[in-house]
Amino acid sequence: MQTNFTSEQLLNKDNKSSEKIFRKCVHCGFCNATCPTYQLLGDELDGPRGRIYLIKDMLENNKPANDKIVKHLDRCLSCYSCMSTCPSGVNYMHLIDHGRNYIEETYRRPFYQRFFRNFLSYSLPNPKVFKFLVFLTNLVRPLTTFLPGFIKELFTLMPKKIGKSSLKVEKIYKAKKTKKRVARVALLTGCVQSVIAPEINDTTIKILNRHKVEVVVIPEIGCCGSLDHHMGHKVKAHEYFKKNIELWYKEYLDKGLDAIISNTSGCGTTLKDYAFIFRDDKALKKKAKKISELTKDITEFLHENIKLKFKKKKTKYKIAYHSACSMQHGQKVHSQPIEILKKTGNEILNIPDSHLCCGSAGTYNILQQKIAKKLLINKVENIKKINPDFIATGNIGCMTQIGSGTNIPIIHTTEVIDWFTGGNKPNKLKL
Ligand code: SF4
Ligand code: SF4
Repeated sequence: MQTNFTSEQLLNKDNKSSEKIFRKCVHCGFCNATCPTYQLLGDELDGPRGRIYLIKDMLENNKPANDKIVKHLDRCLSCYSCMSTCPSGVNYMHLIDHGRNYIEETYRRPFYQRFFRNFLSYSLPNPKVFKFLVFLTNLVRPLTTFLPGFIKELFTLMPKKIGKSSLKVEKIYKAKKTKKRVARVALLTGCVQSVIAPEINDTTIKILNRHKVEVVVIPEIGCCGSLDHHMGHKVKAHEYFKKNIELWYKEYLDKGLDAIISNTSGCGTTLKDYAFIFRDDKALKKKAKKISELTKDITEFLHENIKLKFKKKKTKYKIAYHSACSMQHGQKVHSQPIEILKKTGNEILNIPDSHLCCGSAGTYNILQQKIAKKLLINKVENIKKINPDFIATGNIGCMTQIGSGTNIPIIHTTEVIDWFTGGNKPNKLKL
């Protein structure tokens, strides 16, 4: 694609990076074929190629974002299915991130949008506030029939109770019964996930400890920053990024880290992008690069480093593996979780159209409810076709979204691995 940036515009590091990406695009439109929003809405501007044109037009012409541009870019799920399809290696993720930051810099959203987006940015990454919200929504839940549709939909995504961790809060979880440690890793325990599904972090720690891996949880690290990053809240997102980079890097220097483990693929994708985000930051460049290099999805880490000791069971389950978009398209971690799950002795089923998003996509199912709902219905229909005993996935957002549309139990991949390496049967499967 030909570009027309002036040399002055190219002094801006983000323009410079995006220009290189635009130049790779050959307008072929292959990406549209696998874009969930293009498939649903059939509008060129709701596909990746159209969105690339919109972003390019804004940036090259120093044009402030307008209602039309915002509508089409807001509808993008950041599922990155287009990146898996693109034959030219266009990094759409960096373009849409740039586009979203540019929108927030040049466009004033209506008051209710600003209020709601700020509310999400304040409440979701803050476990205490989020717990209080869960409490409030459960108080009001009996009255939901009287509430507007938009709010009613939100209630379907809110948990009915707050999860309780089975582990004592510690900074270091030591590998049990062994003097010989295999590795030392830091775990990103996350924000929303730690409130609604603490069993994900619990099982992650248990699997690692059981296989002689020491786990460090730095208490000051909560949110990875991706929630704000994807809403274009650059300043706030960068505050999270910088804090996390400094704290993990210090731990890496002081006591050593072999990996930083993420068990939420959306967060893992952002952690792996810290290196790009701080590519021109003199103070943080080297540290951010190291943090991104150290980051591994839990299944990726286990697959590469640990000989898991499975304990086969009499019952063979049919497990539908849902590969989150951030996992398969964002991090390109696809075969590893499936290979590990197969080793449990269960039957692992592929979901038809597994490359398509379930509609979760961070805050997308909150902000773009109609599209998210359609994607959820399609996903659930496809899951029902293969009739699994339960669904496994590696992303809390997908668990919440898919769980709101079906009674088929959905658990985290780590819960399956923990169960088949000596842990307890997940509560959701104890009927
Ligand atoms: S990230 Fe997903 S929704 Fe956005 S343009 Fe690409 S395929 Fe479409
Ligand atoms: S598939 Fe890649 S090269 Fe083709 S239009 Fe889409 S982004 Fe551009």
